[in-house]
Amino acid sequence: MQVYSLKSGLAAFISQARRPIGLVPTMGALHKGHLSLIRQAMVDCETVVVTIFVNSTQFSSSQDYDNYPRAVEDDLAILKNEKVSAVYVPDDSDIYPLGFVTSINMKGFAQALEGEARPGHFDGVATIVTKLLNRSMPDQMYLGQKDAQQVAVIRRLVSDLDIPVRIVVCPTIREDDGLAFSSRNVQLGASQRQAATILYKALAATRDRYRAGNHNYHELIDGCRRIIESEKLIDKTDYIEIVDAENFTKWDEKGPCLLLAAVKLGDIRLIDNVLMD
Ligand code: AMP
Repeated sequence: MQVYSLKSGLAAFISQARRPIGLVPTMGALHKGHLSLIRQAMVDCETVVVTIFVNSTQFSSSQDYDNYPRAVEDDLAILKNEKVSAVYVPDDSDIYPLGFVTSINMKGFAQALEGEARPGHFDGVATIVTKLLNRSMPDQMYLGQKDAQQVAVIRRLVSDLDIPVRIVVCPTIREDDGLAFSSRNVQLGASQRQAATILYKALAATRDRYRAGNHNYHELIDGCRRIIESEKLIDKTDYIEIVDAENFTKWDEKGPCLLLAAVKLGDIRLIDNVLMD
C-alpha cells in the first residue's frame, strides 16, 4: 500500500495505475460503513485509492471541525489490512495552498436540509470532491447512501460540470441496534449512545406506516417527530423531511421517496435516512 501526503506523489502513482481506478473519499476515523465502500471498490476496480482528509471548508463551526474524530494511524493499519492500492492523506496546505480563493457554489436543493442547517457545507463538499477527482482521475467514485443529500449534490456536481466519473452508491451499514455507523458515534456518551437508536427506530417505524398505505406527508412527518422527541436526550430535531427519491424535489405523495432526519444530542449531530418505496 502506497501512502501519499503530497499531490505530486499521488499524481505519479495515478499516471501508471491500472484501470479501472476506484476512489473512496473519506474524512477518516474509519468504521464498517467506510469498509463496505472500500470492499465494493476492491471488487470492482484494479486500483483503489482511499483519501483521508478532514475538510475544514465543509464545517460551519471551527469547534465542530476541531472536535471531529481523527485516527490516522489506526486508519492506515485498517487500509493496509484491506490491501488498498494507495492512500492520499494530505495536509491542509497540499489542498488549500496560500492564495487559494476558489469555491464551487451549490444552489437549489443543496441549500435545504443539510445545506440550511450547515450553511456553505455543500460548497465545501463540492470543492473538495472536485479537487480529489482531478487529482485521482478515477473511473468510479464510491459514496454511502447514509449521506443521501451529499450523493444527490455530487451527482448534480459531476453532471453540471461534465466530470467524467461513474458514481457507485453503497447501502447504509448499521450497528446491530440500527444506529448507522458514523465517525461521530464515538463521541456519544453511554446514555446518548443508547438514546441515539431512536433516530433509526423512528425512520423505520414511519417507513412501516408508509408501507401499510399511509402516504400522507404531514401524518408521516408528525408521527416520525413524535417518536424522535419521545426520547428526552434528543436536544434538537434539525429537520425531518420527505423528498422525491430521484431528485430531492418536493414529494408529491406518489412514488418512491426518501425520509431524512437530523438530530442533535448535546453537541453531536446525527443524520440518517430510509428509502420508502
Ligand atoms: P465520511 O468519512 O463521514 O465523510 O464518509 C465517507 C464516505 O463513507 C461517505 O460517502 C459516506 O456516505 C460513507 N459512509 C459513512 N457512514 C456510512 C455508513 N454507515 N454506511 C455506508 N456508508 C457510509
